[in-house]
Amino acid sequence: MNIRFYNTLTHKIDPFDSLEPGIVRMYSCGPTVYDYAHIGNFRSFLFGDLLRRFLERAGYDVMHVMNITDVGHMTGDDADSGEDRMVVAQRRLKDSKKSGKLTAGEINNPDDPFEISRFYAGAYLEDARRLGMKIAFEPEDRILWATEHIAEMQAMIKTLLERDHAYVGDDGVVYYSVESFPAYGDLSGNTLDKLREGEGGRVLEADQACKRHPGDFLLWKPDRSHIMKWDSPWGVGYPGWHIECSVMAQKRFERDTIDIHTGGEDLIFPHHECEIAQSCGASGKEFFARFWMHARFLLVEGEKMSKSAGNFFTVRDVLSGKVTGRPVHPSVLRYELTKSHYRANMNFTSKGLVDSAAAVRRMVELEQSLAESTGGTSAEIDNSHVTVAAFLEALADDLNVSKALAVLHDFMRDPPKDPAEALAVLRAMNDVLNVAPLRGADDTPIGEDPTADVCGTDDDPDAICKRIDEARASKDFATADELRKQLVDAGYEVRTGPEGTSVKQKLA
Ligand code: AMP
Ligand code: ZN
Repeated sequence: MNIRFYNTLTHKIDPFDSLEPGIVRMYSCGPTVYDYAHIGNFRSFLFGDLLRRFLERAGYDVMHVMNITDVGHMTGDDADSGEDRMVVAQRRLKDSKKSGKLTAGEINNPDDPFEISRFYAGAYLEDARRLGMKIAFEPEDRILWATEHIAEMQAMIKTLLERDHAYVGDDGVVYYSVESFPAYGDLSGNTLDKLREGEGGRVLEADQACKRHPGDFLLWKPDRSHIMKWDSPWGVGYPGWHIECSVMAQKRFERDTIDIHTGGEDLIFPHHECEIAQSCGASGKEFFARFWMHARFLLVEGEKMSKSAGNFFTVRDVLSGKVTGRPVHPSVLRYELTKSHYRANMNFTSKGLVDSAAAVRRMVELEQSLAESTGGTSAEIDNSHVTVAAFLEALADDLNVSKALAVLHDFMRDPPKDPAEALAVLRAMNDVLNVAPLRGADDTPIGEDPTADVCGTDDDPDAICKRIDEARASKDFATADELRKQLVDAGYEVRTGPEGTSVKQKLA
């Protein structure tokens, strides 16, 4: 199979192959655990899961590693300045405790940052499992915590100092010297001259005086007052955010160069640019990851969904029905968050969820009827089967999921006559999509049967609007009022105009 991916590092589509035949080593930046992860975060994480599942189906053994950031991720745009996000969480939790909003079973002691990070990391893993992310079923092995790698971070910082990639500033802070690394800027385009001129826009200002170059970034900050602190040769303090990923990738893979590194688009600069400078600075190798792949943002009404903007929905809010007024099956949310190309922005709408529900329902119903007629036994097929080949070929083209889903839907409209063959084809595609059925790592089904009314299409708001118009047309105003009330109770703003009845999306 001719696999090619867009590589942020080379700014073009490159043919993909792994360094070691048959094995892909892939690192994905994980969540900062100061709050529940939102569905925008999960768009990036699920892109990683889809990529992994595709590579596995294509025959690779994929070692997938992800980090949990529980220290050092600051609120400033440059990631070095501002407050540690764990402090933000602490303040928020203390405020809600004071106002009685913090309920039992959540965080008992907001003074303990480790309790906060454990709580939100647990919630993250729970959500990731509900959405069928493979890595969440192997947390012991593949999910690494920043605060458990402080010694290794210090060792890498020492190496960077020895190799003259780092220096201790007059303020006692250990900085990475971007001028020591000529390739700085290759990934993001924020080259040293641009940063010096401030064109990069996101360079630290407050303590520039102690930096040799405005683009230099923090590796270790002595600060006894910090929320989490450790002893170090440079004083009691905490690590910068970027060093954790360089260290954990190197440690877990026992390699200086890995195959693929993923994250959301906001991580390209400064986070990934700095990871490359650190890893290659310490190892002396040309590459940290050969492929850098980034997911574009999930938007809500045209704006980036983000914790700091406060316009975010958590997985649990969506699944429980808090966002759209009725429960959503995890298969439907997974389908919705993965159905558009990872390099295109995606707008989250209730209409999108309704369409996804219809697609998942079609898949589940077909799977169930095929399983019934074959007694669950599928035919033996491999990736050369014409439909499976077309599906994988689409994904091989920089993960062209829309093209792959078109193959799926064509197949569902006109499946092969032999049900055992049809079942095998559907299962092969579902190996990658993991929606119908949605499975955990050991193939156990997750969630309820999605054909139950949790993702029903008859009661979606648009369908109800149609029924209102039909009732009004036949002058059955009692039914029209009742249906209207149903929508209002579910939180929708209902409008009736010349084009008929419509609801304003309830997502705002
Ligand atoms: P964080 O928890 O902020 O460290 O982010 C975790 C991951 O989510 C990173 O890969 C981010 O790039 C990604 N991310 C954050 N916001 C969004 C969004 N609105 N859409 C897609 N990915 C996002
Ligand atoms: Zn990272």
